[in-house]
Amino acid sequence: MPDTDVAVIGAGPAGAWAAWRLARGGAKVTILDPSHPREKPCGGGLTGRAAALVQPAVTLAALPHVSVGVARFEYEARRAAVALPWRSGPPALVIASRRELDGALLAAACQAGATHLGRRVRDVRRSGDGWALVTNEGPITSRWLIGADGPTSLVRRRIATPFARTDLSIATGYFVRGVSSPDITIAFDDPTAGYLWSFPRPDHLAVGVCAQADRSTASALLNVAREWIARAIPDAPPLDRYAWPIPSLTEAALERERPAGPGWMLTGDAAGWLIPSLAKAFTSPFAPPIWPPTACFLNAIRQRATKRRSATTSTSSSAAPRSSRRASSGRRSSRC
Ligand SMILES: Cc1cc2nc3c(=O)[nH]c(=O)nc-3n(C[C@H](O)[C@H](O)[C@H](O)COP(=O)(O)OP(=O)(O)OC[C@H]3O[C@@H](n4cnc5c(N)ncnc54)[C@H](O)[C@@H]3O)c2cc1C
Repeated sequence: MPDTDVAVIGAGPAGAWAAWRLARGGAKVTILDPSHPREKPCGGGLTGRAAALVQPAVTLAALPHVSVGVARFEYEARRAAVALPWRSGPPALVIASRRELDGALLAAACQAGATHLGRRVRDVRRSGDGWALVTNEGPITSRWLIGADGPTSLVRRRIATPFARTDLSIATGYFVRGVSSPDITIAFDDPTAGYLWSFPRPDHLAVGVCAQADRSTASALLNVAREWIARAIPDAPPLDRYAWPIPSLTEAALERERPAGPGWMLTGDAAGWLIPSLAKAFTSPFAPPIWPPTACFLNAIRQRATKRRSATTSTSSSAAPRSSRRASSGRRSSRC
């Protein structure tokens, strides 16, 4: 018997969300990620659609966030401001700290019954009809494998094809501490850069620039960010730099993508599931496009979980009262 039904490698939004959904469906899920709690290099912009999708697991209103009232656009000397009104439901755009948001999603997955192990996965290989994982704290076996380990995904490198440089953007910039705003700014100042953003969190701005990795360099993009900050926030405090790749696949690469196979799938950044034109992802980790093998993979896990649930129900309904069955599922979640 494998140690777990599904091993999810990576507890960012894609991994935690997949784990939440599968654990609620009855699967025994183990999430492996040594990094939490952690901030991720990210603007932290969450669209209203993405916020609505995760609403059953995470109440955004309970997390520190900024609800964006106005989006400002800059193109050379031209300026435009667009109001983002909202009447009901989540605002069109909120900005949240990834430490808080990812932590809340992971907590929700654990509450749903998943187990989080703070381990780094060093290798994955097939073993019978499942998987053997090598971690920094010993081996784990699993029937299914989900790679939610970001753009540098180990699972992707071992089982699928790593991203080519042409399929990645560089995203880099600065956290400007002690400054905030109710507005976001998107600027198109440099033709080699994709665009610059200034996204406000409650106690700082995340200012960043991204561009295709084969067309620019991190230092050129950092110059663009520094110049914009010098103009827009003349008294800015010392800047805190961040950088990370974002998958931004060409159309041809998207055609070639095979993010799932027998017993495994990739999700989130590891699968290249971003909105290519904007290199923004938060909707896609939560609602991945349904590619046929991916759908089969998720169905297989659900079917097995359903079978196990009905087997447990028929055994326990003759032997144990309803309340003790609830108590036993509670014991599993307390391992998180
Ligand atoms: C600078 C920047 C700004 C961005 N701004 C926005 C924005 O404003 N809005 C938006 O929607 N998107 C934005 N994005 C994109 C967004 O950050 C990602 O698309 C999103 O984090 C993807 O989630 P994920 O769960 O797939 O991966 P991640 O959030 O990267 O999580 C992957 C997790 O896997 C773990 N991991 C990796 N390897 C291993 C291993 N071997 N073993 C165990 N764990 C492992 C890591 O520790 C990490 O916690 C931005 C990205 C960057 C770089």
